[in-house]
Amino acid sequence: MKKVIVIGGGISGLSAAIYAQRSGFDVTICEQHSMAGGMCTSWKRKGYLFEGTVHWLTGSNPKTEINQLWKETGALNEQVPVILHEQFSAVEWEDKIIRIYRDIEKTAKHFLEISPDDKKQINKLLKDVKAFSDFEMPVTDIKGVKTQHPKRMKFSTLLKIIPVFPRLVKLSRMTCKDYTDKFTHIGIQKTLKIIPDEYAAVALIATLGTLNAGDGGYPEGGSLAMVEGMVKTFKDLGGTLLLNTKVKKIRIENKAVVGVTLNNETELNADAVIVAQETIAALDNLFDTPLQDKWLADLRKNTKSAVCTFICMGIRCVLPEPIIPAWELDEPIEHAGMTETQLCFYNNAGHKGYAPKDSAVLTTAFMGDTYDFWKKAKEKGRYEEEKQALADKICRAVCKKFPQAQDNIEVIDIATPLTYERYTGAYHGSWMSISGVGDKMTTYPGFSKSISGIYFAGHRMMPPGGLPVAIYTGRMAAQMVCRQFKVMFR
Ligand SMILES: Cc1cc2nc3c(=O)[nH]c(=O)nc-3n(C[C@H](O)[C@H](O)[C@H](O)COP(=O)(O)OP(=O)(O)OC[C@H]3O[C@@H](n4cnc5c(N)ncnc54)[C@H](O)[C@@H]3O)c2cc1C
Repeated sequence: MKKVIVIGGGISGLSAAIYAQRSGFDVTICEQHSMAGGMCTSWKRKGYLFEGTVHWLTGSNPKTEINQLWKETGALNEQVPVILHEQFSAVEWEDKIIRIYRDIEKTAKHFLEISPDDKKQINKLLKDVKAFSDFEMPVTDIKGVKTQHPKRMKFSTLLKIIPVFPRLVKLSRMTCKDYTDKFTHIGIQKTLKIIPDEYAAVALIATLGTLNAGDGGYPEGGSLAMVEGMVKTFKDLGGTLLLNTKVKKIRIENKAVVGVTLNNETELNADAVIVAQETIAALDNLFDTPLQDKWLADLRKNTKSAVCTFICMGIRCVLPEPIIPAWELDEPIEHAGMTETQLCFYNNAGHKGYAPKDSAVLTTAFMGDTYDFWKKAKEKGRYEEEKQALADKICRAVCKKFPQAQDNIEVIDIATPLTYERYTGAYHGSWMSISGVGDKMTTYPGFSKSISGIYFAGHRMMPPGGLPVAIYTGRMAAQMVCRQFKVMFR
């Protein structure tokens, strides 16, 4: 039996490992952390469970092609209820709450009531989102692999792409800010800022399209349940998951991979290695001699890393859920060289297992690469102090808005880019890539031409990345291993 080592037990690594093991390989996952899942995780503090990733999942709708991958890997199954919240986001503006609903018709009607002057732009938004509602990420096989059930681009998918294409090109050439600025109503502009300003507008419209199509639901149990399901599938197939096992180097002899060396100097042999660790950090650390493939140099040069500071709060009082509409701060929150002028939160209190009774469990992300600031703070011994200062500012702002929270904040937990780096080894703690104006939609090849038996999976392979890309590129990497050894992919 040919041996495959997968470096990293995040979603892409678990996916690669499951498909490779099912196809007849002897697969070992080496995961540096004490649990699998990588960026797809949640954590518990003082009785509150903070959902770190899965708020809305692309592919939760059984009608989508990606859904089959979530099911084949055990991340989802028929028994997992998927909750489709009606509201997606909301902003307090003057005396109103302006909302984005899952149903774009409802959103458009609501926007029109608020700002009849924006009729033309609202109709445009409606048409754009509807066009993208028919559009989904296709699942296909790589060239040259033998598969039991070949998956090619469906004719019906192609037919759906053709009418969307001119819109896609246009929306890829403007930023989200360019798009939202076309609305005259400032409140509507703010409500539509669900994606950072500098991203291409296609990201905003595709997100709204996904929701309007009835996808992007919350599967009960969130990140932890999905990962647990994948780990169980892998182990039931006979795979080996080594936790607390960090790979130090990939061993290469005569232009072919022969295995890996672990941090404790143990050597493990393999016929193929799938690198499912975040790609840039992997290139920096895992190779004694840099790989010469041009696509890897392009990936490194072109990647703009999405990075955040993640805030979690457990409060013993009832607050709106599932979202707390964004509100303007009287006193902006300065942190790590950034300024937050508003706050908004997810409140998962209504989801099973997240919060004690009559309590709120809040999460929010401040987007921006503040890695250097936190790194410097750590070096100067000011890291905890800076984190506490930020926590104090957030608590003050929350208590000012919700006086019932005063003296009831039981926990506030802040994950900085350094936290993400520590737990996942990712470059700057990054978990997706920024897809800006003019950035090409690329799928990187995922294998090395110069060294045989090395494959790559993970969110960097198809920017902007995310969970669907992680599971899909894991499957692709397993197919590449099958192709190398002329094995049927299962
Ligand atoms: C706050 C937040 C919100 C998000 N929201 C969404 C969302 O709404 N929708 C969406 O689609 N995605 C979202 N994501 C992104 C998504 O979680 C990631 O893109 C995805 O989980 C990446 O999976 P991956 O397998 O490519 O990488 P990772 O999750 O980074 O997995 C890599 C694994 O490799 C391990 N590793 C690293 N180095 C080594 C080594 N040397 N040896 C052994 N193991 C190693 C790490 O510990 C980790 O487990 C979000 C992420 C965050 C943090």
